[in-house]
Amino acid sequence: MKINDNFEKLPESYLFSTVAARLRAYREEHPEADVIRMDIGDVTLPVPQAAIAAMHRAVDDMAAKSTFHGYGPEQGYDFLRNAIAANDYAARGIAISADEIFISDGAKSDLGNLGDIYSEDSIVAVADPGYPVYVDSNVIDGRGGELEGGRWSRFVYLECNEANGFKPVPPAVHADVIFLCSPANPTGVSFTRDELKAWVEYARANRAVIIYDSAYCAYITSEDVPHSIYEIEGAREVAIEVRSFSKTAGFTGLRCGYTVVPSTLTGTDEEGREVSLRKLWLRRQTTKFNGASYIIQRGAEALYSPEWKKEVRENVDYYLANACLIRDTMARAGFTVFGGDNSPYIWVKSPVGESSWSLFDKCLSEAHISCTPGVGFGAAGEGYIRLTGFNTRESTEEAMRRILEMFGK
Ligand code: PLP
Repeated sequence: MKINDNFEKLPESYLFSTVAARLRAYREEHPEADVIRMDIGDVTLPVPQAAIAAMHRAVDDMAAKSTFHGYGPEQGYDFLRNAIAANDYAARGIAISADEIFISDGAKSDLGNLGDIYSEDSIVAVADPGYPVYVDSNVIDGRGGELEGGRWSRFVYLECNEANGFKPVPPAVHADVIFLCSPANPTGVSFTRDELKAWVEYARANRAVIIYDSAYCAYITSEDVPHSIYEIEGAREVAIEVRSFSKTAGFTGLRCGYTVVPSTLTGTDEEGREVSLRKLWLRRQTTKFNGASYIIQRGAEALYSPEWKKEVRENVDYYLANACLIRDTMARAGFTVFGGDNSPYIWVKSPVGESSWSLFDKCLSEAHISCTPGVGFGAAGEGYIRLTGFNTRESTEEAMRRILEMFGK
């Protein structure tokens, strides 16, 4: 058979594996160095007890004939979809019904798989810098064109920089599908209500669809930052929302997320007829997906019990406090910083115009701290690094002590 040539177009190495390889090499050369991982994109606290207890019960369900669960509904169990509709939407005054919610094995799968429901010639807009999955999955699907000077010829790049506070703004040109992420990875910045309104207006005017990645919505603490795009009037007609339990409740290794496709959202076919995107996504999921695990869905459901409020909030607050410490320390050391308030990510500008990789090497060799080079998230990330609040408090404090020492503060 002939392969999908688009794979050959992708750059050889994925950002995170390059960082891991560099770290491995450094540790081999310097076995005595106590390297602190400030590049870590995974959670470090265990899963809340409420979810653990529910998953133990669900395992026992599997052992008895009367409570055993085989294949589940492809869209997810009612118990979890109802809990999401009630807690994440109705409780915030947002009208999203359980049958508009699709449970999955995580946001990454959904973000990549959604490409099945829009046409191959769609013009895709992505933030630069941004989460690499949006770009790479659309390149694999054939929407990238050619890679020229680090950018794909068919994408609309929403350049983020210091001037726009690293928040993408609606472009002057047309796009069919727009990936937005708020709070954003890697920059840690979030849209205010008015900024998001401008995007909904753009999408309505362009008959475009926004794929709104809100994997970090649990980190939002500011009043003027919406938790859901559906808080904006008219968004039900233009937006798909993708969420995850990974960073909310330590589910990175358990795998559970969900996608909302409102019944009011449509696209057009060859003849210009309106077609329900919910219907297409349901068809896609029933064809290619057999549902997330019953046990994991029971664990996710438990996060919405009263214990959730306390335990999950405490975990998120722990990472937020780390992020706040990093942001303040980096600013004190003379860096320009973004994010870190409604997000576990802090986006840091090199004070003397160094490249991302040179700052990476400097932090590693002089302070034994690893970070993620910003240029790995897109050309506009050059000169920046990403730090994360996911390490332990002790390691974060030690890393910040080293930074202050390194810069003589
Ligand atoms: N979206 C963003 C912006 C992320 O940073 C991540 C994970 O790092 C994901 C989605 C993937 O989440 P999940 O673990 O649910 O696949």
